[in-house]
Amino acid sequence: MRWLKKCPVGPHYMLQEFCQIHQTSTSNPHPPNFNPTDKNGAARRKTKGIE
Ligand SMILES: [Zn+2]
Repeated sequence: MRWLKKCPVGPHYMLQEFCQIHQTSTSNPHPPNFNPTDKNGAARRKTKGIE
């Protein structure tokens, strides 16, 4: 299936991997291994000894 791609410049989504409006590459808003709102991130890094 195809995910909607998110334009990094404007607050809009599209199926294309290139935003014709802003002339820039779009990104997938569903990254598998990155969650900037992960509230447990700090505790998990502490467990791994990184912080
Ligand atoms: Zn755009």
